[in-house]
Amino acid sequence: MNELAVKADILSMTKDELTAFVGTLGFPAFRAKQLFEWMYKGVSIEEMSNLPSAFKEALVQNALYALPVVANKLVSRIDGTVKFLFRLHDGQYVESVVMDYEHGLSICISSQAGCRMGCKFCASTLQGKDRDLLPSELLGQVLVAQREVGKRISSLVMMGIGEPLDNYDNVLRFLHLITSADGLNLGARHISLSTCGVVDKIYALAKENLQITLSISLHAYDDEKRSAIMPVNNKWNIDSLLTACAHYFRVTGRRISFEYTLISGVNDDEEGARKLARLLKSYMKNMPLHVNLIPVNPVEERGFDRSSKERVESFKKTLISEKVNATVRRKLGSDIDASCGQLRHKKRKEEGS
Ligand code: SAH
Repeated sequence: MNELAVKADILSMTKDELTAFVGTLGFPAFRAKQLFEWMYKGVSIEEMSNLPSAFKEALVQNALYALPVVANKLVSRIDGTVKFLFRLHDGQYVESVVMDYEHGLSICISSQAGCRMGCKFCASTLQGKDRDLLPSELLGQVLVAQREVGKRISSLVMMGIGEPLDNYDNVLRFLHLITSADGLNLGARHISLSTCGVVDKIYALAKENLQITLSISLHAYDDEKRSAIMPVNNKWNIDSLLTACAHYFRVTGRRISFEYTLISGVNDDEEGARKLARLLKSYMKNMPLHVNLIPVNPVEERGFDRSSKERVESFKKTLISEKVNATVRRKLGSDIDASCGQLRHKKRKEEGS
C-alpha cells in the first residue's frame, strides 16, 4: 500500500503547514519549529535529540519523512566530484552529483525516477518514467548530500534524471521551499532548471517570475534533426520553443542558456554551427547569447559517438565568429560515471527490472 495515502509528507511542507500538522497531532508550535530545523539538517527522526519520545512516536505513526537513503557514493579521484545513488522510500533509485567549483559546491539533482521524454542519446529515458519525485524527495537529495559532504551547497542545477517541467507542480513547490528564508535560503539566481522544451510549462514558469536560470536542451539546428533525436520536438517544434524562450526572457529579464550536445556526424557540421547561430539570433533578439557545448557521453545502448576534439573546437569557433558566445562544458567526475542516468540504469539491470 502507498504509505503516502495514509501518512503526511512532512518534508514537502512549508513551516506554517508543518506547524498546523503538528497541531493536529496535539503538539505545540515550538515542536514544529524544532522538527523543521532538524529536517533541514538531513537527519533521521531518531537523531533529533531534543524531541520528546511521544512526539517522535506520533511522527513515526503519522508522517512519512521521505529522506533519500545513500545506496552508493562515489568520489572522483580526479576532481573530488561526488556522485550519489539514492534509494527512495518505495525502492526507486535516483542520482545526484555534487561538484566543487571555485565559487562553491554545486549539486545536480534528479526530478523524476526515469523519464518519458525519449531523447535518443540519453540513458535516463531508456526504460521510461516510473514516477515523479515529491518536493520532499527533491529537497531531500540536497539535504542528504549536504550532510554527507559536510559543507554548504551554494548552487543547484536541475539537470539530473527526469524532465523537471514534466513534474511541474512538485518542482515549483520545491523551488519555493529551497529558496525560502525558513529553509535553505538558496538564492534563486544560484538555481538552474534545464528542460528539453516543454513549451506550455515554459509559459507557466514565466508567470512565476522567479529569478532562476532556464536552460534549454536544444541539440539541433533544424526541426528534422531535432525531431530525429528528441521526440518532444514533434509536439513542440523549434519555432514554438524559441518563441516561448523569447517570451520568457521578455517577462523575467533572465537570460536563457542553451545546451547543445555534439554528436559525431549528427549535429556537429560547420554549416550547422552557422545555422544554429542565426536561428538563435533571429528569435532572441535582445538577449546576449550563450551556448554550452557538451560532447555527447556515449551510452552503450544508444550507439552515438562524441565529436572529435577538433570538430568541437571548430563548432565553437564558428559560433563565436557569428557573435554567439560558446563554451565547452568541462567534464567532471569522468572516473565515476558522473553523467546522470548511468548508475540508476546499471542498478536496474543488476536487479533485473
Ligand atoms: N530533461 C532535462 C534535464 C535533464 S538532462 C533536459 O532535457 O534538459 C540534462 C542535460 O544532459 C540535457 O541537456 C540533456 O540533453 C543532456 N544529456 C542527456 N544525455 C546525454 C548524453 N548521453 N551526453 C551528453 N549530454 C546528455
